[in-house]
Amino acid sequence: MNIPDIIIAIDGYSSTGKSTLAKLIAEEYSFLYLDSGALYRGVTLHALENGLIAEDGTIDEEGLKASLPSLDLDFRTDGTYIGDRCVEKVIRTLEVSSHVSPISAIPFVRNFVDDRLHAFGRRKRVVMDGRDIGTTVFPDAEIKIFMTASAEVRAQRRFDEMKMKGQEPVMEEVMKNLLERDYIDSHRETSPLSRAADAYVLDNSDMTLHEETVWFQGLAQGKFGILE
Ligand code: C5P
Repeated sequence: MNIPDIIIAIDGYSSTGKSTLAKLIAEEYSFLYLDSGALYRGVTLHALENGLIAEDGTIDEEGLKASLPSLDLDFRTDGTYIGDRCVEKVIRTLEVSSHVSPISAIPFVRNFVDDRLHAFGRRKRVVMDGRDIGTTVFPDAEIKIFMTASAEVRAQRRFDEMKMKGQEPVMEEVMKNLLERDYIDSHRETSPLSRAADAYVLDNSDMTLHEETVWFQGLAQGKFGILE
């Protein structure tokens, strides 16, 4: 099946498998995959490492704002980089996860990330996942998907993923972080997580990955009138 040069936006709650589906689509149809959450995680790591987040979680917004222009945050084929350092692994730790939502609620941080996402989007043939891709970053994306799943299924997935990466997660903490992020992400003032009116909802609580890809194929076929 051939999909035209379009932008595919995949938004949804934390740990709904957005990146897994996005990567599969990218591979199958030769699209560029962009993980917008990784950029928010990169900014958060930068803030943590530069002492811009106090013990009690207070963010030094002035300091962060002043330091962003020199933050060299980018994607390479093997993941997210700050300068020449691959930070792909460290941005997935619970420490970064527990600070990322307050950081990503700051409007100038969102502008910083959006500028990078727009630059990539100019190339088209991009599949991007996040919280506000279909509503704010690319409101004209040709295909929009909004993913959801039960909190239990999502927490278990995140728990298994962290274990596989050699971390030692505690289920209660994983669940707490997930619910906290859902809350902050959907209640912030700037670009809150919400379903675009023209997004197709995918609840994958009881779906296999294969079923999800078949679902996507059906959607794309219907949308572009592709018969084969
Ligand atoms: O997708 P991931 O869970 O890695 O994203 C980490 C965090 O980055 C989210 O919880 C959210 O706070 C923020 N985010 C966002 N907007 C996006 C993508 C991620 O606010 N488009």
